[in-house]
Formats: sequence, structure tokens, C-alpha cells
Amino acid sequence: MEKNTMTRREILTKVAPAAAVMGASMGALAQQAQPPPQQTGQVMKNMADQMFANGQYQLPPLPYEYDALEPHVTAEILRIHHDIHHQGYVNALNATVQKLDRLVRSGNYDQVNLAGLMRDLSYNGGGHMLHSLYWATMAPPKEGQNVPEGEIADAINQRYGSFDQFKTYFTQVAVTTKDSGWAVLIYAPFAESVGVFQVGDHDLSLVPGAPPLLTVDVWEHAYYLQYQNKRAAYVDAWWNLVNWPAVNEIYTFYRQQNRMAENMQT
Ligand code: MN
Repeated sequence: MEKNTMTRREILTKVAPAAAVMGASMGALAQQAQPPPQQTGQVMKNMADQMFANGQYQLPPLPYEYDALEPHVTAEILRIHHDIHHQGYVNALNATVQKLDRLVRSGNYDQVNLAGLMRDLSYNGGGHMLHSLYWATMAPPKEGQNVPEGEIADAINQRYGSFDQFKTYFTQVAVTTKDSGWAVLIYAPFAESVGVFQVGDHDLSLVPGAPPLLTVDVWEHAYYLQYQNKRAAYVDAWWNLVNWPAVNEIYTFYRQQNRMAENMQT
């Protein structure tokens, strides 16, 4: 099994101590002690770095080995889903952006189906974004119960009463998606809360400013080789793979951004 990147745990154990040492020595230089650098945002930073580089969208490496999600999602599915499907959306997204850039520069919109290009942009851009988040918010299955922790656990409990009630609701949203699509947990900044959307295909029919925190892919390519038509069995298994520390980190990141905006002096 090839391993194409550091796992999240490796990043935390290798990078975090180095950052702490740097923070400590810098703190010693400063006249007064500074708080250690915030780790919040690392998941977002990794995603941003890996989704786009050198002027092009690109396929983020999986943060685990292909067989790391077994028995819930097989290596075969993961390899095809990541290496072929997601790569395809990335390629199509780059091609769409190039076409649009050429079009803008030419200024000649005659004979061009701009609405079609906009649909391609939404479809492939949504595909790239949602798949990148899907990989980043899964992890090898944990022994015992896999439940949220930290601020995201509080937000879920506050909004949905309990994790079990949320889980039932989110599962229903995922399972009842017509044909291809996604269930997405989002951050609702004005309410300082969370919400759930159902997305058709890849189109990010989300409220602008309400960013996705966690998502499950319910396209057949995500499960059919293993679960055939039993989408609910796949979603049940997927709960074992949710990387709650990563979801909590993403939630905390957006909350901090929101608080900064609220505290801005005019
Ligand atoms: Mn997919």
C-alpha cells in the first residue's frame, strides 16, 4: 500500500512540536509571553494548499492509505474514487476556468453558451471542493463509539438536541438524496450554529457565507462496488470514519473568523 502523504497524526506529532519550539523561542525573545501559535486552521490550510497550486487546481493526496478506511470503505473504491473520479473533476475544472479566462480576455460572447460554462464551473468546482472536504473529514475507524468532541459537539447538541438525533437526521438527508448528491453539515455564521443541506450532483446550492464542515458523498461511485444499492448501509458505515477532531477544527476556524468580523472596529 503506497502512502502519498503524512497522516494527520504524523502532521500533529511532527509539525506541532516544531511549531511549539519555534513559538517558545520566539516567546523568550519577546518582552512578554505570547500565547502559542494557534493550531486551529491547519486542516483548512492543508486543504487550501493542496487544492490549488502553481495557478492550477490539483488533486489533494489522500491523508491516509488506500486501505485505511476498511472494512467500511474498500481500498478499491477509494482508489477509483480519488484517483479517477476526483481527478476527473479537477481536470474539468481547470479546463472550464481556462475557457472562461480566454472568453473574458477575448470579450467575444457571441455563439458561446455561457450558462453551460457556468454550470460546468459549479459542477466541477463543487466536485473538487466537496471531495477534498470528504477526504479530509474521514479517518481510519476508531475503536468504540465515534462521537463529536469540542465546540462542534456543543453546537450539534444545541441545535439538534443530541448527537443521536443529529445522526438520524443527517443520515435521512443523505439517504433521501435523489440520484447523485451529498449531505453537508454547514456552519451558519449569523446564528452561530450549524445546519444541514442536501446537494444535488456537485452543485454547491449552499447559502453563501455558510461554509461546509462535513460531508458524505452518496454518488453510487462512492459505495456501489461494496454496498451495491444499499446506500443506507454505506452511510451507517461512514459514521465510523468521520474525523471529528478535523470537523471540530474546521468549525472552530470559521467561528474564530466570524468573531473577528464581529469584533472589527469601524
Ligand atoms: Mn464522489
